[in-house]
Amino acid sequence: MSEFAKIEKKWQKRWAKDKIFEADPDSKRKKFFLTVPYPYVNGALHIGHGRTYTVGDLIARYKRMQGYNVLYPMASHMTGTPVQGMVDRVLAGDPDANEMYKRDLRLYFDTEEKVNAQLAKFKDAMTTASFFAKVISQDFSALGYSIDWRRKFTTGDKTYNKFVEWQFQKFMEKGYIKQGNYPLLYCPQDGNPVGEDDLLEGGSAKIKEFTAIKWPFEDGFLVAATLRPETIFGVTNMWINPKAKYVWAKVDGEKWIVSKAATEKLKLQAKEVEIIETFPGSKIIGKSFKSIHDGHEIPILPAEFVDPNNATGVVYSVPGHAPFDYIALRDLWEDPSDLAQYGISPEDVRGIEIIGMIDMKGYSKFPAKDAVENRDIKAQTESEKLENATQEIYKAEFYDGVMKDNCAQFSGRAIKEVKEDVVEWMKTINRVDIFYEPDQRPVICRCGANVEVGVFAGQWFLDYTSPGWKEASRKALENMEIKPDIFRNLFESTFDWLAQRPCARRRGIGTRLPFDPDWIIESLSDSTIYMAYYTIAHHITDNKLKPKQLSYKFFDYVFLGKGTPAKVSKSTEIDVNLLKSIRSEFMYWYPNDQRHTAPSHISNHLSFAIFHHVAIFPEKYWIQLISINEHMNMEGKRMSKSKGNVIPLVEIPEKYGADVFRMYVISAAEPGTMMDWR
Ligand SMILES: [Zn+2]
Repeated sequence: MSEFAKIEKKWQKRWAKDKIFEADPDSKRKKFFLTVPYPYVNGALHIGHGRTYTVGDLIARYKRMQGYNVLYPMASHMTGTPVQGMVDRVLAGDPDANEMYKRDLRLYFDTEEKVNAQLAKFKDAMTTASFFAKVISQDFSALGYSIDWRRKFTTGDKTYNKFVEWQFQKFMEKGYIKQGNYPLLYCPQDGNPVGEDDLLEGGSAKIKEFTAIKWPFEDGFLVAATLRPETIFGVTNMWINPKAKYVWAKVDGEKWIVSKAATEKLKLQAKEVEIIETFPGSKIIGKSFKSIHDGHEIPILPAEFVDPNNATGVVYSVPGHAPFDYIALRDLWEDPSDLAQYGISPEDVRGIEIIGMIDMKGYSKFPAKDAVENRDIKAQTESEKLENATQEIYKAEFYDGVMKDNCAQFSGRAIKEVKEDVVEWMKTINRVDIFYEPDQRPVICRCGANVEVGVFAGQWFLDYTSPGWKEASRKALENMEIKPDIFRNLFESTFDWLAQRPCARRRGIGTRLPFDPDWIIESLSDSTIYMAYYTIAHHITDNKLKPKQLSYKFFDYVFLGKGTPAKVSKSTEIDVNLLKSIRSEFMYWYPNDQRHTAPSHISNHLSFAIFHHVAIFPEKYWIQLISINEHMNMEGKRMSKSKGNVIPLVEIPEKYGADVFRMYVISAAEPGTMMDWR
């Protein structure tokens, strides 16, 4: 141990003995209440986490030196399925999961025997999370963080659960929480919805809604998914992969043709699906189906580029306006030799006339042809160039395009205004449905399975578009300091797109919805107003208050000043004077003067924290300031446990000295810039 380390240890012991970071209300001093989000306790933390907590601690100490009475508390987050998922894998004997936990345990135990003994105790999520909660708090103390540990709790505590129940009861009273059919990313292997935390790959995936168009064919429909439903007037043919498997299936009572792979997705999307017949795509190639608007016959042509795993595996072709379709049709014109086996004559295919259905300045009758020729695209395999051309036409037509006079009742209208109306009209004649896909591939669950979209009846979600909520939250943001202010526009754009967001799931650690206990509130929804809970947590622990005493009346009184202490005392059996001091302690510390964290929290946690404060507390208790420091790289590379380029937090005091680390972290980079550890 170096001299530095000895000195650090000496003072840390002295601080603990003198309890100098235990902050109590003091009416003679100005208070400062600082929070940094509690860590997720599913393993050891590393220096990537260390930057944020260290900067937080430095702010706390700086404010103390300025004479403020500073409260800097910490707790542990364990909500949701990540811990449970890992424990399940350990119990199932998964070698990777075992090794992951062992690697972390070796940081805390010096023999393999002790490591195995601790691992053997990881039989349930609570035990595992509680172990890491304990060692992480020790790591924090060893780094000299000036935390008031009397106020610690975990999000799995029954007393904390009562607080979150109260929070959600408030959302219910305000009409901000709703139940309905809702599409979610879903793991077919686990049989459960998945969140960002559950994904190995595709963590930023969102759900894309396609219009599924039902083209009349024989006694049913050929069903093709599209993002451009207005192009139904320009269809010259259907593309079907001759080698892929297709089915005739009864879908909600109608006969549909889709790829066999698509039937699994339809089932997840709450459709009743019964397969009638499976056949190769080649069987229907050469036949014809009917157009939507005037019923004319259109041929089905072969195309091996059609991926049966993408959407419905049925693709309608608009060669005048879609570069992929244009080049595929051109290829058939140039080499029609494949067509004979399907009984299609080359003359018939050469006779197909491309349809121009959208007028647009700067383009010829067939914009897709322009885009292909400008890029000199020769083959279907030049997918990057083709994707590029597709984007160009999509954007140009959306903003500048006008429907030509071959578009029935929609002729003469601008594309951006007509899209919705075309879908509405097709609804009235039963020609559309909805089909969901993730907006990127691959999206892989931690269990290794491909993630799909599931539609859930009865899903609970918070509706951020509820009347008045966004306006009030924008006001809170305007009056709030953001440091550095360059991050403000990220908040503003998040506020713009926030709409309905699922807030509960079927399993994991956490708080059950008070009005529907089959559901557990998920991890980004139970961690938004807990800064208020810090102000009272030690009273609950020290006085051994029971969960049932922490009723809605208790929290209404403590946080909102509703009711009288006498009445609340009577119904909760909590001493009147204790109630009063809990209430006054909350009023002393709140609002949260500064919340410090990293930019990745802006689009979720921090924005939700603002919205939820606005929903529940009066304006004087809204968050005052949010400060952000950027992430840390390891010698120019992104840090990640799986890459192995991380330094565990626990090793820092021994290896470098806590104070050396703190000095380095605070001086190596401005908060708003990436820090590179070297
Ligand atoms: Zn899975």
